[in-house]
Amino acid sequence: MFKVALLPGDGIGPEIAQEALKVIEKVKARFNIEIEIREGLIGGIAIDEKKTAFPDETKEICDWADAILLGAIGGPKWETLPPEQQPERAALLPLRKRYELYANLRPIVVFPELIEASPLKREILGESGFDIMIVRELTGDVYFGQPKGIFEENGHLKGLDTMVYHDWEVRRIAKVAFEIAKNRRKELTSVDKANVLASSVLWRNVINDVAKEYPEVSVKHMYVDNASMQLIRNPHQFDVIVTGNMFGDILSDEAAMLTGSIGMLASASLGEGKALYEPVHGSAPDIAGKGIANPIAMILSVALMFRYSFCKNDIASSIEEAVRVVLREGYRTPDIAGISKNARIVGTVEMGSLIAERI
Ligand code: NAD
Repeated sequence: MFKVALLPGDGIGPEIAQEALKVIEKVKARFNIEIEIREGLIGGIAIDEKKTAFPDETKEICDWADAILLGAIGGPKWETLPPEQQPERAALLPLRKRYELYANLRPIVVFPELIEASPLKREILGESGFDIMIVRELTGDVYFGQPKGIFEENGHLKGLDTMVYHDWEVRRIAKVAFEIAKNRRKELTSVDKANVLASSVLWRNVINDVAKEYPEVSVKHMYVDNASMQLIRNPHQFDVIVTGNMFGDILSDEAAMLTGSIGMLASASLGEGKALYEPVHGSAPDIAGKGIANPIAMILSVALMFRYSFCKNDIASSIEEAVRVVLREGYRTPDIAGISKNARIVGTVEMGSLIAERI
């Protein structure tokens, strides 16, 4: 029995969560497995109904579950609240902290059918698109290192952040990345800034140490400034990238942009036990309620859940293949319709149904 907490959230969150449910129902029938789903409130809607963005009832549901599936949260209605009460700060960060979700996985996939959506030239992309997995450390680095703050010194103000990594933090993210690389092209690129940063020198040493446990995986080290260029020059050279929190933050957004379609990008945040799966995009208040949101990022997040939380590669692959088939048949939500001449434009519900039918 797989236990899933479904947190639809705000804006287009409930619309795409509905399509994820449809896919899960199809998977249950097709693969004959048992999945129990409990729904909880999170984000703005939880503030409206429970006066807090991450209510205790939702925490209990998440504690019970093996995997958490989140739609998206936030929107203009809650942007005037004090920062510490706003949905993302008051719900997403505590959620990641509660389950020590230290490994953020972002598959960056350009499907061959959506090559025209990428801002990269066709001669760089080739005919097959690309598929990169970015593994970003999520709970350490300069975002959390102490001391941190703005201090007065000799009559001037000083802004201070501390970039820090411990060997155990690097070791555990390295293991996640090597395990993933082992099951893909067996190539890992570790991105750091070891020419100037002590924390990066430690990072590199630990990666090399962990590499001894994975002789089948080849490891390349790259400085972050070079990596940001290489992603655009030749994305095909990358398979799995592992990097720290800040470099990963920047590189994963750069890489996401190369796909040209935010409605297609899924993510997973893994901890020691539980994991969180969510689309990369936000609650898209500008299109909420119009029935045109692309549910694919959410559906691909469901695929990641089956792969990483439930070790069901066959189910994950069948969901991903169903997405590919629907794209090949020409179906597009408006955000990915682009310049395709023969696009068959569909809404959220129809896209979800088409994918579910093809599983
Ligand atoms: P956004 O990702 O919500 O939207 C950016 C643009 O992409 C919009 O034009 C939107 O219509 C479009 N878009 C996004 N997802 C789409 C989809 N599935 N299908 C079609 N089009 C899609 O980013 P934003 O506008 O900067 O943020 C809106 C709200 O979401 C804010 O309150 C922000 O704080 C919040 N947010 C939440 C999360 C999260 O829940 N993890 C992440 C980012 C932003």
